[in-house]
Amino acid sequence: MIFTTRFAPSPTGPLHLGHAYSAMLAHDMARENNGRFLLRIDDIDQSRSRPQWERQIFDDLAWLGVTWDEPVRRQSEHLADYTATLEGLAAYGAVYPCSCKRRDIEAAASAPQEGQPAFGPDGRIYPGTCRGRAFADRKPEDALRYDLSKSVGRYLPFFSETGPAHAGEHEVTAAFLLNRVGDPVLARPGMAASYHFSVILDDANSHVTHVVRGEDLFEATFLQRFLQWELGLSPPIYHHHRLIRDDAGQRLAKRDDARALARFRAEGATPEDIRRLVGLPTG
Ligand code: GLU
Repeated sequence: MIFTTRFAPSPTGPLHLGHAYSAMLAHDMARENNGRFLLRIDDIDQSRSRPQWERQIFDDLAWLGVTWDEPVRRQSEHLADYTATLEGLAAYGAVYPCSCKRRDIEAAASAPQEGQPAFGPDGRIYPGTCRGRAFADRKPEDALRYDLSKSVGRYLPFFSETGPAHAGEHEVTAAFLLNRVGDPVLARPGMAASYHFSVILDDANSHVTHVVRGEDLFEATFLQRFLQWELGLSPPIYHHHRLIRDDAGQRLAKRDDARALARFRAEGATPEDIRRLVGLPTG
């Protein structure tokens, strides 16, 4: 299997120093291993994606010296594939429509027991309100959720060197997924697939062997590992890197224009300066 990694930004805002670090780290790893480095445009959320940001991504990466192996994959070009996979999964009876809005979930979730968190990697842990609904009842304004209770009992985490078997002090067991993750969203209203569902299909489709991404996605990984198991996909190896933070110690976000690469470029920084700023070897 050829060492294959990827950088998968969403074209919803400018790339900042954190993106540059992630992209250059993954790119360096691919080149050191004579592997492939892929660029994927995660534009599943068409309401927030903009061509101008996609153009800026290409431009910033080229400026950084990051070169990618063609073709570029765009999620928006594969919507029918996500839907087909989702319908295949639904045939097993584990996918249900959900009309709950955030405030409904908050109201329905009884106060979590002591020591139990209210939030997991897919947002507020879903109390199961719509679990009894049939897939065929789906209305356009519904999301689709996966009923973990249907199969999680059979789940023997195939965690080894390829991914997290533990989340902090917790082992990622069936009970852990049920109590600390909850039924994940597979598709939001008006969208063919959720983030978790689309990325595991994309990574598998592109034969990604190594996912290099920030440690803010560590929790997302054990949910995605479960979905991979459910779909019979072979999991990549995950490498979670440290986050680049601002001077106040906060992680950078798309709205942090001050850290946008475009800003550094306009002020005359060089790609070597950026490597130094994020702590990557230069020269
Ligand atoms: N589009 C996702 C992001 O920018 C990709 C995350 C991932 O690596 O799975 O956060």
